[in-house]
Parts: sequence; C-alpha cells; structure tokens
Amino acid sequence: MADIIKLLPDHVANQIAAGEVVQRPASVVKELLENAIDAGATSIKLIIKDGGKSLIQVVDNGIGMSATDARLSFERHATSKIQSAEDLFNLNTKGFRGEALASIAAIARVDLQTKTANEEIGTAIEIEGSEIKSQEVVATPQGTSLAVKHLFFNIPARRNFLKSDAVELRHITDEFHRVALAHPSIAFNYYNNGSELFNLPESNFRQRIVNIFGKKSNEKLVPVNEDTQVVKVSGFICKSEFAKKSRGEQYFFVNNRFIKSHYLHYAVLAAFEGLIKPGTHPGYFLNLEVDPSSIDINIHPTKTEVKFDDEQTLYAILRSTIKHSLGQFNVAPTLDFDHDSNLQTPYEYKNKNAVLPKVTVDSTFNPFAEETKPTTASNSPSASSSSFSSYKKPSPQSWESLYVETPNTEVKSTGFEGVSFESEVSAKSIFDDTEDDLDTSAITFQLKRKYIVTTIKSGMVVIDQGRAHQRVLYEKFLRTVTLNEGLSQQLLFPIQLSFSLAEIDILKDIKDNLTTMGFVFGQINENIVEINGIPPMVAEAEVDTIFDELMADCQQNVGADGFSQADILSKALCKSLAVKTGDVLDKLSQAALVNDLFACTESMVSPFNKPIYVTITENDIDKKFM
Ligand code: ADP
Ligand code: MG
Repeated sequence: MADIIKLLPDHVANQIAAGEVVQRPASVVKELLENAIDAGATSIKLIIKDGGKSLIQVVDNGIGMSATDARLSFERHATSKIQSAEDLFNLNTKGFRGEALASIAAIARVDLQTKTANEEIGTAIEIEGSEIKSQEVVATPQGTSLAVKHLFFNIPARRNFLKSDAVELRHITDEFHRVALAHPSIAFNYYNNGSELFNLPESNFRQRIVNIFGKKSNEKLVPVNEDTQVVKVSGFICKSEFAKKSRGEQYFFVNNRFIKSHYLHYAVLAAFEGLIKPGTHPGYFLNLEVDPSSIDINIHPTKTEVKFDDEQTLYAILRSTIKHSLGQFNVAPTLDFDHDSNLQTPYEYKNKNAVLPKVTVDSTFNPFAEETKPTTASNSPSASSSSFSSYKKPSPQSWESLYVETPNTEVKSTGFEGVSFESEVSAKSIFDDTEDDLDTSAITFQLKRKYIVTTIKSGMVVIDQGRAHQRVLYEKFLRTVTLNEGLSQQLLFPIQLSFSLAEIDILKDIKDNLTTMGFVFGQINENIVEINGIPPMVAEAEVDTIFDELMADCQQNVGADGFSQADILSKALCKSLAVKTGDVLDKLSQAALVNDLFACTESMVSPFNKPIYVTITENDIDKKFM
C-alpha cells in the first residue's frame, strides 16, 4: 500500500492551532494586551469595532520589534520569552508559547507596525490567512501597533458562531478589566466604535479599581495585607454589606496574572461566613505573590487555572488574612455578643419605614344614593386588563401594599391588586368557572412560612407562596410594559446609584422599558445614575438591591429586544420583589394572594416554569385512611 501520511501545510496547522487559542474576539484581546505588557509598555490603547468582529487593535509604547523579529513573530513556536523548557519554571512573562500571533494571523487579516528604540525607521507587515501580503518600511513611533481585522474571515462556521456585538464586547471588557487590574502602573485607553469606554491613568491598585468600577466603590474597599514565606497577599475585599446578588467583582491575580480558583474562592467565602446574606457574593480584588517555581501555569493556551504546590496552606493563610482584615476594619458585625435575637429582623424588613395608618375620604360618597353591589370585574382575568387603570380599589387594600410598605402616602390602585376577597359571592363567581371550585372565603393558613393552604370543594390546595407572588407580580409588570401603563411615585430625594460603565451600557439599553414600568430616571453622569421615581410596589430601600439583581440578570441576556427584554425585566423584578420562603403572611395577605394568583392568566406555573400549587382531593385523603 502506498504511503498515506502527509505533513499538514503550515497554514492548515496554524488554523487548527488557532481554534485552541482564539475562541472569540476577547481571546485576541487578551493575547495582544499580554504581548504589549511583556514588551514593557507603559501605555496601551485598545481599539474595538463591532464587538471585535471588524477590528481589534492594540497600540503600545513597548520595546517594539526589529524587521526580522517582526517577520518571525508570526511563525509558530517563535518566542523571545523562553529558550528552554527549564525557563517554564521561572516565568516572568505572560506569553511563552509563541503561538498567539501565528494563530491570529491564520484566521484574520493582520496589520503590524512596529519600531524599536534605536532604529530610525519601523516595519509594516500585512498578513492575511498566514500569507504575507506586504512588508514595508514605515515611519512610526516606538512600540507596536497590531490590528486584527475581520476575525474568522476564512472560517465562516466560526464567524457565525460569534454572539451579538454587545455580547462579544462584554467579553472583551471583562478581559480588559482583568488585565488592567493586574497592571495598575500601566495606563490604558479603551475605545469602542470611536467612543472612549475607559481612560485609566497610571495609578495604584485602589485607584485602578475605583477608575474601573466607579467612584462609589472606594468606600466599599477594605485593604488586605499579609506577608508570609509562602505567599504575599495584598489587595482589597469589599465590605460585607456590599455583597452582591451577582458574582461580578471577584478577582484573583497570581504574580500579576488573572486566575480562576474555586479552592481559593472558597477560602474567601469561608472568611465571610455568617457576615453576608445567603445568596449574595462578596467582592474581592486579591493579589497573591508566590515563587514562580511553586506554581504550574496551565500549558493550555486559554485556561486561567493555576496549580499551586501547597494549596492547603494558601487556603488557610487567605482565610485568616481576610478574617483579620474584616475584624480590624470593624466591618464584621458583632453578632456574638450584645445580641438580642428579639431585635433581629429578617433582612427584608430592614430599613423599611413604618406606615402610618391613613384615613381616606370618599368625596363622591352619597349616603342617600342607592346601594350598589361591589364590582367584581377586576377579579376576572379577562376583565382585569380593561379595568386595569380605572378600577377603584375596594377596601381593604391589596395584600401586596399591606406587605410592601411603600414609603409614600399615596397608594395607587392598579386594578390587579384591588381584589375584594371578602365577598363570598364574588369569589365563587370567579373561581367557579375558572379554577374549578376554589373557595376563597375558606380559611387559609400558612404552613412552615412557605406554603399557603386553603380548601376547595373537592379537597385542598397547597400553594407555594413565593412562586405564587412571582406569578402575580410577573403578569402585572408584563402588563404594565406592554400596555405602557406604569405608575410611578415621585421620590422626595432622588436616589443615586453607582454602576460600572459596562452596567451603564446595559442600563441605557433597558431604560425605556424600566420607564414604562414606573422608574423615572434623572441624569446619568458617567457612572452615577439618578432615580427620581419608582413604581409604587417598590420600596425605596429596595431599589439598590433590585438594580443589583437586574444588572446580574441582564448581563446574561444582553442584546435582547422588544418583548424578550420586557420579559427578562419582569422576571428579574418579580424575583426580587416577591415574598420569600420564611416570610410570615397574615390572614389578609394570604387570602389576597390566593385571589390574585387565580386571577392570573396562567396560575399553574411560576414565571420560571415551576409548579405553583398542588391540589389534594378528598379522595386522596380518604385513601390515606384506608
Ligand atoms: P509569545 O507571547 O508566547 O512569545 P506571541 O505569538 O504572542 O508569542 O508573540 C511572538 C513574539 O513576538 C513574542 O515572543 C515577542 O517577541 C514578539 N511580540 C509580540 N507582540 C509584541 C509587541 N507588542 N511588542 C514587542 N514584541 C512583540
Ligand atoms: Mg503572546
């Protein structure tokens, strides 16, 4: 048989290797920024167009390359950073594989311009799909500019696989944050489609964090410092009260390289134990300096995991160092003493203002007029939308406004919530033809602060209170957005929230929909957003948390439009506003929730597709007694 094995041509080998190195535009950004840092740059510019799909350019003022080096840099395994395998154990550079430029040049069009300090004239090279198109001398400042255009132009399958520009830009920004945080002494500028996203001057670590995440982050930071033989820990943790629902700001850097480590993450969590609410995440920016020979930087090009020689010691040091900082800066609440459990309120109640009882006078009330039957129209799912804004709330108030004590005095009726649950007649007339035979005049009770149990003719229903409320709120929000009928309560003092610039982008995207929901936005100044009005259902003290969660949810769904955006927002809001397991509901609220639930278009499943209630029939119960 004839020989069949052939060596792959270089450009094919490079394309295959590129698959490993370059997953998306952000991977190119990482490689180029790291090359610039390795070249000793003190100022680096990152220029992006269309989420990196049309252009990724990095301009640095580093050492530059000679004409020969410039040409060689695109060869595979061409590197100036290591000479032998031993060098791998004493790495001081980001790169060392000599693969990045070869890979990138295989799948894009690359324009390189570079000049060293002691040469008068620089080199320009154009290369496309591994093929050198031109090489010329140019006048260019010292340093290197590398422009990567039309990524994956020759691999359509990969190009189609890319996400929207907004999503790709977000990945790039994440990468940029990591590199910029690891090198505060280098100045960075980052432009997208011609506008400047970040301008980070040379600074210290704290200033760098603040420059990236906004002025308000300064007050959140608690310094961490510990110098041991094994590791030098420095950086900041965020005070426990600023723990977030989203996992955003968690950074480990080992020898100035961003890494991910579950193990070390748990060391930080362990230090915060008992200090933060369940379901929230502490922020941290931690630098670990270790002997380069004690770590194994994964040989895989894109992985960010690192193997430490002595992980357990590192864990212990990190945990105790952070605990120490939390204690020293007095940010750990003194839970162990002076603590009266009677005074402890669930988090949901914290900061809530008491609501003064109020008397409302019905000026249209005429004692001599004929008595009219209370309307039940708003109860029925079909009629509720038409009566959405006009329906006058019968007393007592909806259970929601009883529960969420809105600080303003005026509670506006939104029809949906104005449900009369007293009248047996009205309740029956609704539920008879919709939800089988639910009898809301029946007694309800709360089980384990989690379920609401009520009886129906055929037996009983057990309702998950949290999911039921999510459903009620979800439909209400969705309706508000689609009908554009959001009500708003003016805030006496506008709330100022600070966001990262990336979050500001998201906010601009969802602002219109939030406005229809009843949020009123004032000025947006860099990273500070002013909120002048909020929907009546939202308590002022909750606004911070709500936006926190909104951002977390929207980050995963950037670029959503129209209905899907309204859907995402309604889901996010209902999630944060709904009552939770553990919340005590009084009788009034229980009954009203049951009523509201069965007035929903879809009362069986929560917005997150979980069952809301189960019915247990008399038959089921009888069987148990057989
Ligand atoms: P690696 O970084 O692993 O060495 P790369 O393919 O990223 O491999 O780069 C190849 C070589 O090109 C580097 O070793 C370096 O000598 C040179 N190089 C790349 N980018 C720059 C730059 N911005 N400034 C100076 N030299 C560079
Ligand atoms: Mg490199």
